[in-house]
Amino acid sequence: MKTPGDLLQALGIAETLGAKRPLAVCLDFDGTVTTRDAVLATLDRYGAPEWKLWEARWRRGEMSSRDCMRRQFETVRASLEEVVQTVTEIEIRPGFREFIAWCEKRDVPVIILSDGLDLCIRAILDGAGLSRLPVVANHGEIEGRRFRTSFPYHNEACTQCGTCKCSFVEALRARAEHLVYVGDGHSDRCASAKADTLFARDDLARMCKAKGYRYLPFTDFYGLRADIQDLLSRLEAHPHPPRP
Ligand SMILES: [Mg+2]
Repeated sequence: MKTPGDLLQALGIAETLGAKRPLAVCLDFDGTVTTRDAVLATLDRYGAPEWKLWEARWRRGEMSSRDCMRRQFETVRASLEEVVQTVTEIEIRPGFREFIAWCEKRDVPVIILSDGLDLCIRAILDGAGLSRLPVVANHGEIEGRRFRTSFPYHNEACTQCGTCKCSFVEALRARAEHLVYVGDGHSDRCASAKADTLFARDDLARMCKAKGYRYLPFTDFYGLRADIQDLLSRLEAHPHPPRP
C-alpha cells in the first residue's frame, strides 16, 4: 500500500487538516456511527449461511479479515439496489449529524476508518446527507448480482485487518496534537491503543475493561459531542493534558 500520508493527500484530508490542529477525531463506522453492522446485514440477507463460520474463524484470529470478507462476499447474490436498500434501513446513532456539524464549526477534522465496505458506508452517508465525510474502508462493488471486494488500504505486514487503521491513526497524529478514537469492536483494537483518548462501547469496551486499558464509554453522539467539547476546552486551556 502507499504511505498513509500519500493516501491522506489523495483523500483530500491533508488539505483539510492544513496546519496542525489541536484535535482530530477518528470514527469507526459499523456499530459506532450506526446501530447495526452493514456488512453483517448484507451477508445475513444475501450471503450463504456459512458466512457465520468464517466470521467465527476471523474472531478467533484463525483467518485474516481480508480472507474472511472475500470468502463471505463471494457467496453474495444481490443487485446494487437491493444492497443499498438493505443498508440504508440501518439506523444512525442519535446526534451524528449534529456532531458532524459541530466538528465542522469548530474546525475539528473527522475521518471514518472502517474495516467494513465503502459501498455500504457511502450509501448510508449519502442517505444522511453526509457524502462529504472522508472514508477509508475496504472496497466493494457489484457487477450483475456478484459482489467483489478489494483492499486498497491493506498493510502487508498485518495478518488481521483488511484496512490498516493503525497507519492512518499514526499519519493523523502528525497533523493533530490530540487524537480521539471512537469505536465498538474487534477491528478497532489495534488503532484504538494509539489514540490519546479512546471512546468505546460494546465489544471494544469489554476488551478494554478485561485488559485494564483506559477508555471513556459513549452511548450516542450527543454525549460524545459534550465530552469532546469539554476535552477541546481543556486542550485549549492546557495544550497537553494527561490522557484520561
Ligand atoms: Mg465497528
